[in-house]
Amino acid sequence: MQTYDAIIIGGGPAGAACALSLMLFHDKKVLLLERGDFTQPRIGEQVSHSIFDFLEYLDIPREAFGAGCFTPNYGKESYWGSDVETHHFSLFTAQGKTYQLDRARFDETLLMTISERGGTIIPRCKQISMAQQEGCWQVQCVHPEQGTLHYQSEYLIDASGRQTKIGQLLGIERVVTDQLVGIGAFVEHPERVFEQQQKIESCEYGWWYMAGLSKDLAVVTCFTDMDIMKEKQLNHQEVWNQCLAKTTAIGGSLQGCISTQPKLWVKQANSQYYASDFPEKFVAVGDAVASFDPISSMGIGFAMLSGCHGAYALMHEQKTAVRDYQQDAILTFDEYCETKWDFYKKEQRWPNHPFWQRRLIKPSKQQHRVSA
Ligand SMILES: Cc1cc2nc3c(=O)[nH]c(=O)nc-3n(C[C@H](O)[C@H](O)[C@H](O)COP(=O)(O)OP(=O)(O)OC[C@H]3O[C@@H](n4cnc5c(N)ncnc54)[C@H](O)[C@@H]3O)c2cc1C
Repeated sequence: MQTYDAIIIGGGPAGAACALSLMLFHDKKVLLLERGDFTQPRIGEQVSHSIFDFLEYLDIPREAFGAGCFTPNYGKESYWGSDVETHHFSLFTAQGKTYQLDRARFDETLLMTISERGGTIIPRCKQISMAQQEGCWQVQCVHPEQGTLHYQSEYLIDASGRQTKIGQLLGIERVVTDQLVGIGAFVEHPERVFEQQQKIESCEYGWWYMAGLSKDLAVVTCFTDMDIMKEKQLNHQEVWNQCLAKTTAIGGSLQGCISTQPKLWVKQANSQYYASDFPEKFVAVGDAVASFDPISSMGIGFAMLSGCHGAYALMHEQKTAVRDYQQDAILTFDEYCETKWDFYKKEQRWPNHPFWQRRLIKPSKQQHRVSA
């Protein structure tokens, strides 16, 4: 069985930031397991300027990502609370400069840096079970060609994202505060210029978002709750198209576009956090420890921050460091809930629709269940 200092499950920004921190500041031998083959398109691309602070901390120059990986945004067209257009109406990123990421290139550069610095990455390798025995984590995974693989390590990091199953396997309690989903498509038009375009628009059953990803490619997503999606059949292309066509601004700006994939994608976008104590020598980072409504544009920044902070806490000699880290994540979640509520209540046109009713209720402080 191969042995590492730390095994990281998940190769998104959180797992990558954690691996780089462990290698750079603690000289650890890391193994990163990723179930995908890195060809699937990654969702989420708006980030705040703070992304550069994390890259500096990890000693990765901005130039390593190549020209055009970070495109400055010049304002979001917003139709929220009325049909009248406003600008810069976003939750957390309204104050500072914001950027649009070339997400594939961003994630790829982080992973290449891990490899170049001596870390091991195994793609197409899905973790299926784990156990802690005599101070060691035993991790079992499955690979399409190599079959079942076994690894062991002193430390284990859950960076497996919003749909993580690891907490459930380890008996860590999870609090889920809504059931938001995104139903989306990548669309293209050879004669349109989508670059630097961003539009957000509320509607009775949720909200729509479009962002130009390159000159002729854009992503368009409908956000609603899972039960509403099922009831309205919003995951059916025809219904989704009809709803898009009825929007005030987004549908019109995408007329004549063609979807680049045969099917719509559906992604969980709910808010949640880990609420009970972690086992010894374990930490969760990124969406796995706390995940946020995409309207906040917080996910990628938080993934990087918690990846770095989680690695630091895990290596700290103070026994309470991981617990303090987790407590911080819950406090961040509390503040986020307040800001999110402030944002959603600016839309008062459909107070009786379940989507808005659910979001107009003042959030109560999350119960901090990690031991004091
Ligand atoms: C529709 C949508 C739009 C968004 N827009 C934005 C945005 O504009 N800005 C922003 O900052 N955030 C946005 N987000 C959130 C952002 O995408 C996430 O917060 C961010 O990707 C979290 O990074 P992560 O590394 O924690 O998780 P992920 O990026 O989800 O990475 C987790 C990885 O773990 C792998 N994995 C899972 N289980 C296993 C397993 N058992 N074994 C091996 N590998 C496993 C997965 O394949 C995945 O690659 C959006 C989210 C959604 C759903």
